[in-house]
Amino acid sequence: MDALQELYQQVIVDHNKSPRNFHEMSNASHHAEGYNPLCGDHFNVYLLVDNNIIKDISFTGHGCAISTASASLMTEALKGKNISDAEKLFNEFHDLVSTEKHIEKTHLGKLAVLAGVKEFPARVKCATLAWHALHGAMHNSTEPAKTE
Ligand code: ZN
Repeated sequence: MDALQELYQQVIVDHNKSPRNFHEMSNASHHAEGYNPLCGDHFNVYLLVDNNIIKDISFTGHGCAISTASASLMTEALKGKNISDAEKLFNEFHDLVSTEKHIEKTHLGKLAVLAGVKEFPARVKCATLAWHALHGAMHNSTEPAKTE
């Protein structure tokens, strides 16, 4: 493992061990569920949107290290962002982990640590699960987001 990979690994381990914004939100304006039957990852994502700004974002549930770290990093990246920037980041993150498209990694910040999952198609579903739930929440979907 080279130094960069090792650093990436550390970020994932850290966010898996102590996920950020890991709690229910009683005053959420939006909420959605995400389920990845392949791996068993299952999350709820909560949003408090006011004036098109994500004032607060949190998640609960359980999953593998990749899905948990991705959900945790997502909440950190999106808190305080407006909805259109969140949509943009959703698309960029999706491209980062599932396509060969060149993505400006500095723009994605810590989310870039998940770029390596591209090599493992089954893990892509883990990495994008919370994001699909987020997408559902922003669009007020009542159906749980599924990766299948
Ligand atoms: Zn998983």
